[in-house]
Amino acid sequence: MPSVLTDIHPCFSLNAQTQYARMHLPVAPRCNISCNYCSRKFDCYNESRPGVTSEVLSPIEAKHKFERVKAEIPNLSVAGIAGPGDALANWEETKATINLIKEADSKILICLSTNGLLLPEYAPELVKMGVKHVTVTVNCIDPAVGAQIYGAVHYQGKRYVGAEGSKLLLTNQQAGIMYLTGHGVHVKVNIVMIKLVNDWHVPDVVKKVKELGAALTNIMPFIPAPGSVFSGLPQTSMRDIVAVRSACASELNQMTHCRQCRADAIGMIGQDRANEFRSCLSQAEP
Ligand code: SF4
Ligand code: SF4
Repeated sequence: MPSVLTDIHPCFSLNAQTQYARMHLPVAPRCNISCNYCSRKFDCYNESRPGVTSEVLSPIEAKHKFERVKAEIPNLSVAGIAGPGDALANWEETKATINLIKEADSKILICLSTNGLLLPEYAPELVKMGVKHVTVTVNCIDPAVGAQIYGAVHYQGKRYVGAEGSKLLLTNQQAGIMYLTGHGVHVKVNIVMIKLVNDWHVPDVVKKVKELGAALTNIMPFIPAPGSVFSGLPQTSMRDIVAVRSACASELNQMTHCRQCRADAIGMIGQDRANEFRSCLSQAEP
């Protein structure tokens, strides 16, 4: 559904990427699942390429950094929380950051990315807080496929593995997406495409998330991270990604301009300015 809000979000709109900047606030270090493509020494695969958050910020530090960036990048339209872990697995930090950013600028779009496990718990609060853009990483809809991708799922004090763990995750992702889209939130679904693991299954995921009301999918290449369970698997080629995106384009809008940014990315997509702002906290007010 076209929307003025989405028209100024550089990830949700191809046109907006040439006009608007975004910043990621790295306030969410912990995660509640173990993706086999993730190395915890590295950033969350949800929204960042491996190895590149240089700092984890407290909510108040994130607010100071936001104010400094906003003053220097006037076309900043989005403040997002994209790891380096899972935004909802760090709920207190995520919530406090959203509230502080809204206090600092009531017009900025707030965006977050999540693996979706805790969406049933927090989606109603996100809606109440006015969050209009959420990205959920959904790599499969079949628990048997999920059992190959997810090592463990930690939920309400218990550890689940195999198909049981992935079923729980997939059920919560789907319920959460349906709730969000039913309450006017624009949902983008990231899919990490892994050769011979879920590549053949990606069109099924696209079809399902369309039914759940997702606005677009972002089919991304798997990149082997050193130290991860999948470190020996081959990187997915862009040729394969383009072919699957093309095959799925008639089903649902496809994001084609994602750069798998850092968890502390700042600026226009593809023109990262994170380095310019790395040490800016020492200049912030206490
Ligand atoms: Fe790593 Fe992100 Fe998966 Fe958590 S959700 S295990 S941080 S890739
Ligand atoms: Fe946008 Fe992709 Fe970068 Fe996220 S990782 S900010 S979706 S371009």
